[in-house]
Amino acid sequence: MKAFIGLSARIGSDPLLVQTSSGNTSLKLAGMLWIKASGRWLARAMDEGSFVPLPLAELHSRLGRNEDVSASGGPSIETAMHAVISRRVVIHVHSVNTIAWAVRRDGERQLSERLAGLNWRWIPYEASGLPLAQAVKAAVTASPKTNVFVLANHGLVVCGDDCASAENLLARVESCLSVRPRSEPQFSDPVTARILQGGVLFPCQAMFLGTKPLRLTDSLRDTLTDIQGSVLTGLLQVVRRIDESAPIRYLTETEIADLLCRDIHGYLQSVEKNAVKAAGPSVFHPEELQRQVPVLPELVVNRWEIRRCSLQRRR
Ligand SMILES: [Zn+2]
Repeated sequence: MKAFIGLSARIGSDPLLVQTSSGNTSLKLAGMLWIKASGRWLARAMDEGSFVPLPLAELHSRLGRNEDVSASGGPSIETAMHAVISRRVVIHVHSVNTIAWAVRRDGERQLSERLAGLNWRWIPYEASGLPLAQAVKAAVTASPKTNVFVLANHGLVVCGDDCASAENLLARVESCLSVRPRSEPQFSDPVTARILQGGVLFPCQAMFLGTKPLRLTDSLRDTLTDIQGSVLTGLLQVVRRIDESAPIRYLTETEIADLLCRDIHGYLQSVEKNAVKAAGPSVFHPEELQRQVPVLPELVVNRWEIRRCSLQRRR
């Protein structure tokens, strides 16, 4: 357990792998699945309550009945995905290098050479929770040796029989998929601006930064929270790694509406509550971004949308 917590904290402290509370790790131990709690930060994996223990047998029977096993403040929304993978240690990250490939329509083809020799599968986009878990389960059933899953428009999952093998595999995949970003810190290149204007690339972008392109102004800058800044930094790290000729697949309107209709209000609140207050140097520099990014996505979560969705749910 100690090694697992150490591994989780290391991963959570790497902004190229994890932004804010994204990403999650799990350990199967003595019939239990230890999974990161929803809204918690991997960087603070040492904190009490960061991981929730769930009996694996009960989880499997609930998943067999297609029950949602996650809960706000309880186990992560990705719990089902961790449960359907049989390896002891599962790591899920929002790796910027992986996402730069995973948002491409030709991503699977692009990766076939780069990941040659690894037991990997491309998982077309599915919403987190049961739909994603079912897609991962189908991949494992078809190919039981699979230990690398590239989640389209989302991120990466690797697994192993112990912490060291999972962490080594993560490092190997990262080096295979590593992309040199366009010149740093020149975020203002027209390619980056064009890609940002095209739409939403992955779920965290919609949940934390909104869905519409927007010009960053002084007044808007003042509305940015540290958390939004961190998500934005991750987004820019992704976009700067996408080749200008890449055919991009953005999330569809239906996929975005589905995300906003979840209980993300409670989720965002717990992310804020558990935020890393003293995590070393901030990865986000508002002044620099303001100077260098002419066009950014809308930076305020569309609260009207959220309220409308939660009202609909209550009916
Ligand atoms: Zn995720």
